[in-house]
Amino acid sequence: MVVTRFAPSPTGYLHIGGLRTALFSYLWARKNGGKFVLRIEDTDKARNSEEATEAILKAFNWLGLVADGEVTYQSKRDDIYAKYIEQLLEEGKAYKCYMTKEELEELRETQMANKERAKYDGRYRDFEGTPPEGVEPVIRIKAPITGEIIVRDGVKGDITFQAEDILDDFIIARSDGSPTYNFVVAVDDALMGINEVIRGDDHLSNTPKQIVVYEALGFDIPKFYHVPMIHNSQGKKLSKRDGATDVMAYKEMGYTPEALLNFLVRLGWSHGDQEIFSMEEMMELFDPKDINKSASIYNTEKLDWLNSHYIKNTSNETLVELLHDYELVLTSHDKKEILLDALKERAKTLQELSEQAKEIIATPTSYDEKAMKKAVKADTSAIIENFKAKLIAAEGIHMPTEYHHLIEAVVNEMEIGFGKIGQPLRIAMLGKMGGPGLDVIMSVIGKEESLKRIESFLD
Ligand code: GLU
Repeated sequence: MVVTRFAPSPTGYLHIGGLRTALFSYLWARKNGGKFVLRIEDTDKARNSEEATEAILKAFNWLGLVADGEVTYQSKRDDIYAKYIEQLLEEGKAYKCYMTKEELEELRETQMANKERAKYDGRYRDFEGTPPEGVEPVIRIKAPITGEIIVRDGVKGDITFQAEDILDDFIIARSDGSPTYNFVVAVDDALMGINEVIRGDDHLSNTPKQIVVYEALGFDIPKFYHVPMIHNSQGKKLSKRDGATDVMAYKEMGYTPEALLNFLVRLGWSHGDQEIFSMEEMMELFDPKDINKSASIYNTEKLDWLNSHYIKNTSNETLVELLHDYELVLTSHDKKEILLDALKERAKTLQELSEQAKEIIATPTSYDEKAMKKAVKADTSAIIENFKAKLIAAEGIHMPTEYHHLIEAVVNEMEIGFGKIGQPLRIAMLGKMGGPGLDVIMSVIGKEESLKRIESFLD
């Protein structure tokens, strides 16, 4: 059974890069009928926060990514880590190192002066004497200091590291007993039965150390997929400005979960030239072997395009619900279908859709001067008066087509172009240009409100 995981450190919000590897891991588990588990790597007490953990869970919830089983918190597993550290000590695969900070610094300086790589020199590896007094030891693992470490990577192929270039007997527990990052990741992945690890390639340099831990403890090494980073359009690492921001900010901006997930699945993975993937399709088609070997480029237009696609294809009933989060309550609006049918055709985001709907529903409080100058001519009052009279006379008028016929009647009778009535009437309705068809606008706000806006305009 394929068991994957997402293992965020709650030091900040969940961002796009993290979410993408979470999605890949989720899809791969689902495709194989396996398991996808969530582990919160909250061992760094100084940098972790509960809010960050909450934010991650909230984002998962919003996106509908459901992890299997309970969420695992590393902060609650000290006993487990201690047990394995003890085991390694007993087996002679790890040892106590009494080197002081000063000694370590001295060693670093000498190595630097000799242009050597900074690395622990193994001086306590085989130490048998009396430990120095007053020094709390750290625990170091006996790492292979020669030979090769091969990371078998499903994206990049086999990557061979020379032990002497990258390894030393690294610390697995600090002097206060707390275990270190690479140790707990390997222990947890093994104990949680994770056999396929999909993560960012910024973690590739940790993998040899984790392999050392797996081997020392006799655990099976999982299959790794190190996913290349996401870059901005300039080919640089994604920054906050480009979109490397809190995933929940995408919700605020009005992106739908479907669009965001679809956008992310295509960042670094492809299936022919298909762009639109439903969740079911993603689960069916995703395979980490198709992850690109080079960095992917974040493209906002693509995200907007996908979002429009999903908004357009969302039922009005669902839209009404979604729009509650954007301060738009249309539940009991009698013309919500007409309004949403018109607006969803063109909205890039739910936020934008909400704004546009509010602009239609709210009576304008001022008129755009520039638009007025362009639209209002000597005969405007007469034209609008004519329309007003026709509207007053129109009994039981409701539908956009009925309003359209009224406008047409004025155009034909006065032998004017549509613009001559359309532009000023639009300003009367919205206070400015833009928006969907006038017939739609008037049908949505109704006869009485339309007349009210016309009167204000004529005043
Ligand atoms: N906790 C690590 C992070 O948030 C990820 C560890 C891993 O995926 O192995 O960057």
